[in-house]
Amino acid sequence: MIADIQLPASLKVGAGARFALPDMLSVLGAQRPFIIADPIMQELGVVDTFVAMLNEKQIPSAVFANVMPEPDDSSIVAAVESVKQHNADCLIALGGGSAIDSAKAIALLASHGGQMRDYKVPHVVTQQSIPIIAVPTTAGTGSECTRVTVISDSASHEKMLCMGPGLMPKAAIIDYELTLTVPFRVAADTGIDALTHAIEAWVSKKANPFSDQQAMSAMRLIAPNLLKACKTPEDHEAKEAVMLGATMAGIAFSNASVALVHGMSRPLGVHFHVPHGMSNAMLLPTVTQYSLEAAPQRYAACAQIMGLIDDSADIKACHEALMVFLNKLNQELGVPAMSEFGIDKVHYDSITALMAEQAIASGSPANNPLVPEKDALIALYQQAYR
Ligand code: NAD
Repeated sequence: MIADIQLPASLKVGAGARFALPDMLSVLGAQRPFIIADPIMQELGVVDTFVAMLNEKQIPSAVFANVMPEPDDSSIVAAVESVKQHNADCLIALGGGSAIDSAKAIALLASHGGQMRDYKVPHVVTQQSIPIIAVPTTAGTGSECTRVTVISDSASHEKMLCMGPGLMPKAAIIDYELTLTVPFRVAADTGIDALTHAIEAWVSKKANPFSDQQAMSAMRLIAPNLLKACKTPEDHEAKEAVMLGATMAGIAFSNASVALVHGMSRPLGVHFHVPHGMSNAMLLPTVTQYSLEAAPQRYAACAQIMGLIDDSADIKACHEALMVFLNKLNQELGVPAMSEFGIDKVHYDSITALMAEQAIASGSPANNPLVPEKDALIALYQQAYR
């Protein structure tokens, strides 16, 4: 099997890496950068720091700081126009997955026109757009290193998955210091998202020796550090480990795939406004329990790689350790049950068939070790609600 591996051309990784931004721009030959930022980055003064850093090098920049959390296609329209007017030759995406995904969509539409729904899977985005330097401020999505953007359709309320080599950022700055201001809930949700990426890439039918190495490293970094990173954010070692793990998990899934958890999570998120990482967390234990039998060795290895159990333990004990860990992680990170989150059961029941169809249409469930038919998916949604 030949794996098709894609990565950004350049990564700056480590504390203070953000100060390498002007150098990165000059390597790209970019002179008219446009910053696409999460509003919180403006509030926290990070956008001003970036603009000042560029001004010092006589690089004029423009800013759009109106990124919508879990963006939809209408939220990026104004930015597409501004980017065209500015004649931008590089986008700097500053924020969590929402800012980076918005920047990918803005670059694509500003360069090639059309609507985001024209680009959703099974379409493959091959055309190159305005280059992006991705600067994540959450330790979660790994979008800085993925050939993916997730944009909702404001008309149909579908969370559209768009994929292809043209969506890979040209460069990324992985500076965990930018995550030190992330509140507990966001750190927990984004961290579970990253762990889910690593697990799903590892068990995916599209896993390959390259993605396996990234997934293993990500699990080793995230599993023992996630609780510490959320509960004691002043623990820089834990924050750095989870940040690096999140990027590696992004590389892993972008070069393998995600699977059933993500397939089911997107409809749940869009219909009930559950943050992406939290909807993954709500589903991860149920989907893992369901899938164990189809990839027993791989799931057993997960428990061992994460350091949950001795390497000599048998498969059953490893599976038990994994399930205990995932359930306890949700508990310790305060992941609410769907009813506690306010998901109305009657409304939920009325759209589980639709969510199952949307999950299947995204293609992700087909990469799971055990591929459910629509009825089995509906049953899994029911189980996860409980
Ligand atoms: P996010 O970007 O929506 O941010 C979550 C919240 O945290 C926001 O309110 C934001 O303002 C705040 N925030 C971000 N950084 C902060 C900081 N440093 N300090 C304080 N607050 C901060 O959340 P996310 O989980 O990073 O991204 C979610 C989006 O990414 C979803 O739309 C999801 O579908 C998508 N996603 C994309 C990929 C991909 O490969 N492209 C992968 C997974 C998820």
